[in-house]
Parts: sequence; structure tokens; C-alpha cells
Amino acid sequence: MDKQDRIIKLRKTIELNAYKYYVEDNPILQDWEYDELFRELKELEEQNPHLITPDSPTQRVGGISEKFNQVPHKNRLYSLDNSNNAQELKAWYNRVLKDVGELDNAQLGLFQNNIGDIELVCELKIDGLAVSLTYEKGIFVQGLTRGDGVIGEDITNNLKTIKAIPLKLFEEVDVEVRGEIYMPISSFEKLNERQIANNQKTFANPRNAASGSIRQLDPSITASRDLSIFIYGAIFDKSAKILSHSDAMDKCRALGFKMNNYKKCKNITEVIQYCADMFDYRKTLDYATDGVVIKVNSYAKQNELGFTSRAPKWATAFKFPPEEVWSELLDVEFSVGRTGIVTPVAILKPVNLSGSVVSRASMYNFDEIQRLDISLGDEVLIKKAAEIIPKVCKARKTDNSKPLVLPSKCPFCKTDLIEIENEVGIYCPNKESCPAQIKGRLEYFVSKQAMDIDGFGDSIIEKLIEKDYVYRASDIYKLTYEQLLTIDLIKDKSANNILNAIENSKDVTFSKFLNALGIRFVGKESSDILAQNFSDIEKLKVATYDELSSLEGIGDKMAQSIVEYFKNLANIEMIDEMIRLGVKITNKYSNAEVLRLKGQSFVITGTLETLSRDVAQAKLKELGAKTPSSVSKNTTYVVIGQNPGSKATKARELGIKILNENELLEIINGG
Ligand code: NAD
Repeated sequence: MDKQDRIIKLRKTIELNAYKYYVEDNPILQDWEYDELFRELKELEEQNPHLITPDSPTQRVGGISEKFNQVPHKNRLYSLDNSNNAQELKAWYNRVLKDVGELDNAQLGLFQNNIGDIELVCELKIDGLAVSLTYEKGIFVQGLTRGDGVIGEDITNNLKTIKAIPLKLFEEVDVEVRGEIYMPISSFEKLNERQIANNQKTFANPRNAASGSIRQLDPSITASRDLSIFIYGAIFDKSAKILSHSDAMDKCRALGFKMNNYKKCKNITEVIQYCADMFDYRKTLDYATDGVVIKVNSYAKQNELGFTSRAPKWATAFKFPPEEVWSELLDVEFSVGRTGIVTPVAILKPVNLSGSVVSRASMYNFDEIQRLDISLGDEVLIKKAAEIIPKVCKARKTDNSKPLVLPSKCPFCKTDLIEIENEVGIYCPNKESCPAQIKGRLEYFVSKQAMDIDGFGDSIIEKLIEKDYVYRASDIYKLTYEQLLTIDLIKDKSANNILNAIENSKDVTFSKFLNALGIRFVGKESSDILAQNFSDIEKLKVATYDELSSLEGIGDKMAQSIVEYFKNLANIEMIDEMIRLGVKITNKYSNAEVLRLKGQSFVITGTLETLSRDVAQAKLKELGAKTPSSVSKNTTYVVIGQNPGSKATKARELGIKILNENELLEIINGG
């Protein structure tokens, strides 16, 4: 294929994938795969400038959908050019120095010295969706997506549902700010759990979840998703006399915007160190980041440098290296979970992947094996994103490659595997006696989030099953000291520890007990909802589908699964047996004292002094109150701590009673 044909092919592929990513929020490629194609196109165009066309993806920004009103941006939004390593960062810096007249020093390579240095600002690059927010006299009037940089989608109403976006600033200024909408990683994981439980499409990563949530036609869906924002740019009126990016960011913070920290660096050497420091630090954060953005601080110098057709010359994005490595696929194990789902796991020749030795990686499901055309003996690319376990994401054939046969029978009980309508994956239907499912259920039952019984490692449960001592959860309460001692790994002391842990677990809250039962689709959060709405297990046993599905947070599939669970006599017998064996279930939500705040809802804004917001919310929930995150006309009280957000204003607008921290404590303590 000659260069021109390759360029045309690359453009087509990139355009198709950009559409899937920017417009449909449904990417097919991994980001790094897209970036590789983009980089190849850019390099080919640089070598053959006569082949560059204005509509090439290298000359344009993003994409735009017709779902929303399209509004021209007052000031164009750009993308960022990338630097992938220290060398590229230095080359970018060199160009900057050259363009602002520090050419001689740059040519002499005096980066480390003060001569030729130029002040730079580094910020984490948040992996979300760019928006521009316009404020007039301090009031939020319009919010647009970046779109194609010239025209954005008007998502003002959706943006108004994000609590971190102030509707009114602390000063009556005119300003346009730019920021990144993101979804915290923990919220993204919970959202995907809910999507699975409700049989809806899951999101590929927090960025797509944020983008899909903010670009909803119904703002109440956006409001139900936990979104936030960091502001990283601002265009003030000339009269504000802001002369640098860092001054603008400080001003934004003072106006009430949510800002991330920035770091001023004297030169590129300091920047390179900062990027290295951030590589591990970002893994501690609850939001996804994909690099560091480096900007020339002085506005005067930014103006001198200007823009290319798609990006500022005064900034660059250092992209964190993808954490990936090639290894050999030695085998594939098929594990069977407590619900019967069969999951393929890659067994690899051990390799070092960003500091840890990896010998197993996830392959998701059978479809993924077919999509990636994986054979045994292939070389496979293993990737580890900060927040995700290692995953096989590409395969290439070797001389040793041989077909991978997917099992048609359960590897543990030899039952024929089945597909379940409307569900992804292959299942072992033998719920009753498949040892892998029994083990999975017992492991879940004793886990921290369920009955929290210490001392049962994987292999102990396996041995107890082998010896026929345990089959279902209630058997755990019949285990004897003598039985435990027959397991090689258990000695006198550990046997006593296990028996004590079993005894202690008998006092359990209703929600933990429900979670421990492992009812399909019912997790920790939904168990809590059930405990708030049913006083005890007897009431839940006879709950109808209609009653259950009418509860907020309990979807149709979940309701159906709960009804089916309690229809099964074996389950009822097991629960009754546990109660006979001394399990005491108390519902913290349903004794008379506890119910004191039932029907009331408390929204907390700002920082409380004597207790964290989480603790305050937990205490209120225990007393039967609801603690939604946004203020509505149904809110009973809004509790205001230090530095309250826009919720305080909204409460005043709606005439909702406002409490301070002391008043809240009085209510909690029964005053
Ligand atoms: P970009 O994401 O690489 O960089 C520009 C964006 O960075 C800005 O628009 C802004 O939204 C964001 N940003 C975050 N923090 C910032 C900060 N502190 N200061 C300034 N900007 C900040 O560029 P892009 O054009 O938006 O998109 C390219 C990215 O999208 C690549 O990572 C690419 O992999 C991905 N992509 C993937 C696919 C796919 O199929 N997987 C398709 C298209 C694009």
C-alpha cells in the first residue's frame, strides 16, 4: 500500500472511531490503539505535507452530535498535542524557547540553567469531557461541550445538576471557564454494577460514563449520576488584569470554582520530575487521569506562541505510558463463579508489568476471546490501567499457536453449559451441586462485606466441601472443633479462632445477612434498601414482585430474582436453620427509636467540624432518614457546614429549613 492509500485508510478508521468515542460514547478501540493510529497518521502527514487536507483528523478537534442545540463558542476550544516521553517534552520546550526568542540558549541546551528558562505550570490531565461555562455578572448562564471546538452542544440544564458547578460566583464577574467533567472511579464502578443489575449497557471507563451521563436529553438522569468538575482554564475580561495562567487559576478558586492543584516549574527538568512523581501518585486518586498538562504560564508568552489548527503551541500533554507488556499465553483456565458464570482466565508466562509480576490476566468472556482471535501459544498484550486488573487486549500468532477450544461442559461438574437470554456470558446451570458454585457462594457468605467470618481461606473452604462438612451456608454453623482439626492446615489454635469467629458472626444486621445470602443481583447497597423497607426476613420472604420493584433502587430483574429466591423451599429451610442455630438478625433500621427520622430527608453541604459527612449520613440513615445528595422541594433540612456549595442557595430559594452542625447533632442525639 503506498503512503497516500495508507493515509486515506488511517483517516477513515480514525474518523469512524472518533465518532464512536465523541458522539456515541461507545468506543470500540482502546485509547492507546486509537493514539497509535493517530500518531502514525500525523507522522505520515509530517513526512508528506502536500497530502495534508483541512478535513484530516490531525487538523480538527473532537466531534459533535445533533442531539442538542448547537451553539457557536465565543472563544474556540482546542485539543492538546502530546508528548510521550522526556525526549519529546524537551523537544516541545525547545520549540517554545525558540518561538519566544530564547533561541540561542535553547540551541546551547542550557535547560538546567536559569538562562533560557521559562515558567511552566503542570496540572494533572483529568480523563473526562471538556466543557466551557459562561458566567455573566457572576451567574452561570450557559454551558457547552467542546464539540468540534468551534461549535458546542448546549448542555446548560444538565450542567446545572452538578453540585460542583457554582450557579452563582462569589463576585459579580463576567468570565468563561473551561473544565473537565468527570465521574469518580468509585461512582463509575457502582454505576456499572447498577447497569448490570438492570440489564443495561455498561460503560467502558469513567470517561465514557461521564460523557454518556452529561449528554442525556433528560437532566434528571444526569442528576442521578455522580458527576463532578475540575476547572483548568479561564478567559477573564481584560479589566480583570490577569496576566498568567496561575493567576487565573487562583482567581477561579477565590470565585468558588472546584480546582485541582497546580505546580509551577522553573524549567522542563522540573516538569519531567513532576511527571515521574505523578505516575504513581495518580493511582491513589478516585478520578481517572491520563497524563500531565504542561502550560507556559505567562499570557504574554502564550500569545506570542499561538495555536496550530487543533492545539495551542504553548501547552503539551504528557501522556502516562500505557502499562502494558507482551507475554505468552500458556493456557486458559475457566473459572466458575457463585452465580455459575464461566470466566476465562489467561495463564501467562510470568512477566513484569509496571512493578509487579503478572501470571494471570482477565479475558472477560467467550465473545471477547473470539473478537480478539486468541489462540493458545499466541503472544498476548497485557495491559493494566491504574484502576483495572490486568487484561488481555491483543493477540498475535506465533509458530506455536494452536486453536483454543472453548468448553461446552462445566470444567467442575461436567454439566452442559448454557447461554441465558438477554445476558452476556456462558453459565453452568447446575446451581445445586456444582462444587465451584458451592465454593463461590460460601466464600461470599464468609467475606467481610457479608457475615465477616475470619479464618476461612480459599483452600480451607475447598477442603471442608471435599470432606462433605459444608455444602450450604447454614452448615458453617454446625462445624465442630473435631471436624476442623481433620483439615491439614488447621491446628488447635486456629480451630478455636474459627469457632469464635463463627460464634461472633451470629449477631448480624439484616442488611449484612441479606447480602450474605448472595441472592442474584442483590449486593450491599440493595440489601441496605431492602432492610430499610422490610422490618424483618419474614416480611421479605412474602414480598411480591410489585412491592419490590416499586422501591427506589430495586430494578425489575432484582425484584424478580428476590421473589424466585424465596420461592425456593431449600433457601427458606437454610435461613430457618441458621436462625435455629443461633443467628440473630437485627434490623438497625426498624426498631421504634431508630425509626425516629423516617420520612425526613437531610442534605449536607460544606465541611462539618466534629464528624465527617459520611459518618453524619450513616447516623441519619440508621435513624430512618434519607440523605440525598441534591436539594429538592422534598428535602426536609439542609445542613450547612463550612464553605457550603450552591445547595445552601438552593435551600434558601426553596424555603427549606437550614440547620447548623449543632442543630444536626441535637437531632441525631435525640434532642
Ligand atoms: P486529549 O484528551 O488528549 O487532550 C485535550 C483535552 O484534555 C482537553 O480538551 C481537556 O478536555 C482535557 N484536559 C484534562 N485536564 C486538562 C488540563 N488540566 N488542562 C487542559 N486540558 C485538560 O485530546 P482530545 O482531542 O480530547 O482526545 C484525544 C483522546 O481521546 C485520546 O486520549 C484518545 O485516545 C481518545 N480517543 C479515543 C478513541 C477511541 O476509539 N478509543 C477515539 C477518539 C479519541
